[in-house]
Amino acid sequence: MADPLLAVRDLRVRFETDEGVVRAVDGVDFDVGEGETVCLVGESGSGKTVACESITRLLPDSAAVDGKIRFDGTDLTDCSASELESYRGGRIGHVFQNPQDALDPVYTVGEQVVEAIRIHRDVSKATAREEAVALLDRVGIGEAEARFGDYPHQFSGGMKQRVVVAMALAPDPDLLIADEPTTALDVTIQRQVLELLADLQAERGMALLFVTHDLGVVAEIADRVVVMYAGKVMETGGVHELFDDPAHPYTRALLACLPGRGEGFETIGGSIPEPTDPPDGCRFHPRCPHAVDDCETGDQPAFRAVDGGRADTDSGGSGGPEGDTDAGGTDHEVACLLYDDDHALPPELGVSDD
Ligand code: SF4
Repeated sequence: MADPLLAVRDLRVRFETDEGVVRAVDGVDFDVGEGETVCLVGESGSGKTVACESITRLLPDSAAVDGKIRFDGTDLTDCSASELESYRGGRIGHVFQNPQDALDPVYTVGEQVVEAIRIHRDVSKATAREEAVALLDRVGIGEAEARFGDYPHQFSGGMKQRVVVAMALAPDPDLLIADEPTTALDVTIQRQVLELLADLQAERGMALLFVTHDLGVVAEIADRVVVMYAGKVMETGGVHELFDDPAHPYTRALLACLPGRGEGFETIGGSIPEPTDPPDGCRFHPRCPHAVDDCETGDQPAFRAVDGGRADTDSGGSGGPEGDTDAGGTDHEVACLLYDDDHALPPELGVSDD
């Protein structure tokens, strides 16, 4: 199998704070293949944004980052600041939640797209201007030529986000990281921006790493899903496997919160643990309706390959997507004790042990 475009291995990010050490991301693995859309999903505080911001080191200096982040064969964790600069906003584009933060109010939107083109490519101002107008047109800015000279404050929130998408696409990235890009927009505009991103991803063949707490969005755009909770990955798999056969109680709880998908418990009781004081054992155990004594001690359960409701325990717990899943080619894996041979799997979680 071809190497993934992006491979994140054993990523750990911690911050020293007055309250203690925050382990925002604590041993996370995931891949993004060329042209693939991978969604990082979880509640606020799950670590998904910090994981994404680690990739091109957008984190504050106070962050201590360990692990490997390989992009197209280059380990970004070994890159100098200037080397990383060439990736950031170049081969790796970013779109954030609030477009207001990404736009400079004193420059016209056209100037900002031109700048995004010329910072990474050696083209004349005239060529960049032509490309900028075409990009603005492509992302749905009506009368793009006429609006080239307008300032950000003359655009609505949705239109600003379209401009930010145009800027991110300007250097023709291989990977676009979009962190809750529609959350700040109203519902109808959210859908338009999502459709735009999906169309652009398909026509350019770029990979998309999409951060969201909204499984409805995931269902529409993802090829694969990585479910995070309290700085750890709980489950990962293809979008169809994950929606048709969710294995982890947390994934099932998230899905049960989707309108029309109640599966026993429709809200997730309790709250995500304090990041300075995560529980021992499975981090989800204080909220898990299926927790057993063994869930409360030791480390986070190892990954098991899920095979039709009962994990394939012969895989021995791969520790993440890189491992040998040995499950008929599936990459559907779960970190839950109920999926090993020593614990009874409740019938509602799949195949009974009888
Ligand atoms: Fe629940 Fe235990 Fe599985 Fe964690 S390991 S999700 S607490 S059953």
